[in-house]
Amino acid sequence: MLKRARKLPARPGFAAASLGTIVATALLAGGAATSVAQQGPEKGTSVVVLIGDGMGPVQRTALQYKLYGKVETQPIDDQDHYGMLRTHAKGGGLVTDSAAGATAMATGVKTHRNYAGVGPDGKLRETLLEIANAQGKSTAIVEDNDVTNATLAAFAAHHDNRDNKRIIAKQYLRDTRPDLIFGGGEEVWYPKGHPGKVPDMTEDDVSYGNANLVAKAKSRGYEYAWDRKSFARLKGPKALAMTRTDAILRGVLIRKYNYRNDPYAVPEHEMVAKALEILGQNPKGFFMAIDVDEIDDAGHEHSPRLLFRSGREINLIAAELKRYQRRNPNTLVIITADHETGGLGIEAHYQMGGAGLFPVKGSGEHFRLDWTTPGHTAVNVPVTASGPDSELFDGVYDNTHVFDVASGVLRQK
Ligand SMILES: [Zn+2]
Repeated sequence: MLKRARKLPARPGFAAASLGTIVATALLAGGAATSVAQQGPEKGTSVVVLIGDGMGPVQRTALQYKLYGKVETQPIDDQDHYGMLRTHAKGGGLVTDSAAGATAMATGVKTHRNYAGVGPDGKLRETLLEIANAQGKSTAIVEDNDVTNATLAAFAAHHDNRDNKRIIAKQYLRDTRPDLIFGGGEEVWYPKGHPGKVPDMTEDDVSYGNANLVAKAKSRGYEYAWDRKSFARLKGPKALAMTRTDAILRGVLIRKYNYRNDPYAVPEHEMVAKALEILGQNPKGFFMAIDVDEIDDAGHEHSPRLLFRSGREINLIAAELKRYQRRNPNTLVIITADHETGGLGIEAHYQMGGAGLFPVKGSGEHFRLDWTTPGHTAVNVPVTASGPDSELFDGVYDNTHVFDVASGVLRQK
């Protein structure tokens, strides 16, 4: 399933350099601009951490067979290197939540559950996103759920209570300032009583912020999008997109709702494509953290439909990243999970019970899915990676290893 180990050459990607890069390099290089342009501008290193929330080894296996069959390797697995990560949090048993799982990856420190971007002592720990900021690189966070969700808060905020989303949103704007903030959850960004831009469908959609953070973001130079049309217009370099939260989950839970027809639902892989377009203009490189949260929902809800739909999305994202990486080989792409959700098993087609029978694409065969718990589990999660230093993921490590490798790559240049 996995390709032979090889190290990508550290050659600059001139062919793919944007006009902006060439101009910027020419300006910086002054008189030497011509020869620099001929050799190709040396673009800084970039790192992408793509998190399938709750995506353990069995989720990945189920997606492979259902969506890609037995021959074609799915994009999330079609990477150069492969390992496993231990996800246990600090104290109180083995099973982690997203906050502690993601904080280990974002900061290199195992911490308590509910803690986002802080160590077990409650003190702030520098995150990959902040390291990238300090290097002059661009930064982005992309979500299908609310963008203040624990998984991304671990990368772009510091708080010992993941549920304090209003503070987390404020920290994004005031302290960590990702250049691109794409996701859902506008109810946190608008004050109580404000209708927002995305029409409310449930009580959870009603605004409960205590300030108009959208207005604040705009005053700080962020472009703003709330639906597909306004999203398509974004140019950067700074942008805030607050679109439909958990559109795929709604499609499963709410009768007559079809996210494909919702103008406020921007598919996450399109968000990632747009982010790459904007981030790629920074000659120093970038850092991006992406969370596909609905895979976790699928585990909690025991919903095969949600697993396959959100699994299709994460594979489309991985394909976007691969396309970008081909043109920009000094981009490290890491695809992993904060933890597994649901204790999923794959069983023989003739077994009874479970969550249903599903076809193996293109084979006429079937398999059965069976969840064992509505909660998270402590099973090791796979990590696949391509790009600079990706060979360091061969093996079994604590999830803090993501920080160790990624921070090293960000500091290379
Ligand atoms: Zn969960």
